[in-house]
This record gives sequence, structure tokens and C-alpha cells, in this order.
Amino acid sequence: MSEELKTERLRTCPKCRSQNVRWYEIYEQPMYWDQFASGIDPEGCETQAGDIIEVRGKCRSCQHQWKPKGITQVAQLPGWTEE
Ligand SMILES: [Zn+2]
Repeated sequence: MSEELKTERLRTCPKCRSQNVRWYEIYEQPMYWDQFASGIDPEGCETQAGDIIEVRGKCRSCQHQWKPKGITQVAQLPGWTEE
């Protein structure tokens, strides 16, 4: 019974109402290039992944993409289960 309630509260695709959603966390992933007196070294370096920029949903049924309101990480979404 509690599982039924959970399922009802799941966020669904705003376009087709499907529950078959893939959730993405988009992270800041800066790169840097060092500049010297001679110019900029074209060898860029990646830094460590930074903060989450946003959460996006993509519907696996109709491919619609959107940003769920008020959600900054996937673990905040209803239906998230921590084992
Ligand atoms: Zn959809």
C-alpha cells in the first residue's frame, strides 16, 4: 500500500505523463588553459567536477526534456530509495 502511494507521487513527464523518466545531474566541469608571456598553452587541463548545476529529466517514452522545479539533486525526487 505504501508503495502505491509512492508511485502516485512520482514526477512524470510533463508532456505525455509517462513515469519512464531518466534523471540527469548536470555538473560543472571546468577546464583551464595556462597563459604565459609567449601566449596560451593549447594543452588544456580538466579540473575536478564541481557542483551540480541543475537536474534535468528526459522522458524515455517521448524524449521530452525539462527541468523539474525546486530540485537541485536527483536524491530529492520522490521515488528515490536509499538502501
Ligand atoms: Zn514523455
